[in-house]
Amino acid sequence: MADDSDKKNNGEERFCMMCRRPESEVGPLVTMPPGLTLCNHCMQDMMNQAMRLFQHRNETTDRRNKPESAEDDTKKKASEENDSSADASKSGDSNPSQTKEDGKTGNNGDGFGIPIGGLRFIIPEMMQNNNPRVKPKKKPKEEELPDVMDIANLPVPHEIKARLDEYVIGQEHAKKVMSVAVYNHYKRVRRQEEEAFKDDVVIEKSNMLMIGPTGCGKTYLVQTLARLLNVPLAITDATSLTEAGYIGDDVESVLSKLLAAADNDVEKAEHGIVFIDEIDKIAKKKNTTSRDVSGESVQQGLLKLLEGADVEVPVGASSKNAMVPQTTVNTKNILFICGGAFPGLDEIVKTRLTKSFTMGFNSHLKDSFDDDPDLLSKTTMEDLREYGMIPEFIGRLPMVFALRGLDKEAMKRILTEPKNAILKQYQKLLAMDEVKLLFDDSALEVIAEEAVRRDTGARALRSIIEEFMLDIMYEIPKDDTIGTVTITGDYILGKGAPVIEMRA
Ligand code: ADP
Repeated sequence: MADDSDKKNNGEERFCMMCRRPESEVGPLVTMPPGLTLCNHCMQDMMNQAMRLFQHRNETTDRRNKPESAEDDTKKKASEENDSSADASKSGDSNPSQTKEDGKTGNNGDGFGIPIGGLRFIIPEMMQNNNPRVKPKKKPKEEELPDVMDIANLPVPHEIKARLDEYVIGQEHAKKVMSVAVYNHYKRVRRQEEEAFKDDVVIEKSNMLMIGPTGCGKTYLVQTLARLLNVPLAITDATSLTEAGYIGDDVESVLSKLLAAADNDVEKAEHGIVFIDEIDKIAKKKNTTSRDVSGESVQQGLLKLLEGADVEVPVGASSKNAMVPQTTVNTKNILFICGGAFPGLDEIVKTRLTKSFTMGFNSHLKDSFDDDPDLLSKTTMEDLREYGMIPEFIGRLPMVFALRGLDKEAMKRILTEPKNAILKQYQKLLAMDEVKLLFDDSALEVIAEEAVRRDTGARALRSIIEEFMLDIMYEIPKDDTIGTVTITGDYILGKGAPVIEMRA
């Protein structure tokens, strides 16, 4: 075989040494020492690879440097000391910080940069990090996240609920049911993947159906759960789904979203959670003569996903076509949670309950259920069928539970108690201007009352606060003598001004 460099020396056409294509085809080649010729495309590929290597190395180093606990921290320090002294004795260098710096910069001792194809690629970021005067940016400290696939590490139900309590106010029953359901789900997944239990008792999936009015925290609960468990989550709206072939998203699009949330890692996606909101909107249409492409057909389409099947999923698109790459995702271990407000379901439950109580001494009037805040928790499969959900569909969602609408007290707590409560967020913002923001009791009362009146759940809170905080956020930074601002109920109602105290 004639050597490329020979050809070059003989004045013949040069080739890219990676893809072996001639210069006439790929355009001008880049020449690099020691006589390496590359086309632009391969050059770019190598740079991308170098970047990925560099990022991966940084992540690994960060993970290694992160202390797990106080005890681990001490152990780590001790081993670091040993490592550094060992390194120092190997290289004859007595500076222990050098080892740490090397890990961050990609300098592995015998040169600088990332080695590829006999060359060392230097990335500007690496040079910056190597400069002792430039401090490497610190990554924000992440919460310690569990690995759900490690049973020993999987938080038990009461721990999961305690974590949910930090963010979600009320909804005690829903939090309890969900904590137990996800715990069992991941135990089941783990057990099924172990070879030894392949022929053992098959534990069924615990897909869930949440019923509750808008803004009561259905989506928020699922989001919080997925974050705490460190699993990918896809949230989708059932109203956008249609039967395959019709305008709208195919049911497989929910898996495309999950795949995207898992950074296209199929294995990770297969342990994720899919939340399908507005599930009541795909109830069977009553008295329709045309094909129900966005109702019953979507329920039918979702059956195989809920049950567990190998599904061809378009990657990065919502429907399949010849131009979109596809991959196979098995939904056996994906936890499906459906949620909906089911308007009108309360009437169905009420009618059934009244019917069953109309005879004898226990007879009830329909009105007696009117003020029952827990009416929806009495929902049965029968009621859901009556509502328009097909039996096969609800049969695949064995955990059905209801969330309560939020009352004034719950609204007040939501304003102040969660870890990232809305009022805390505003207080943080003003604290940056060195101003203390306070809300007195009357203010909380007025906001909560107004939110209940608007009947859109906790979502109303933010819009109410935004309305009256606009002026505060605009005016306060103008005057740097202001120390404390107290928002009162009268100010929110437009009857007075906030109480302002000057800085000492
Ligand atoms: P939906 O029930 O319609 O899915 P969401 O879960 O989207 O309602 O709630 C909207 C917002 O209201 C959430 O992002 C969250 O900030 C807040 N919220 C709702 N319910 C609660 C709750 N129980 N505790 C704390 N915040 C809540």
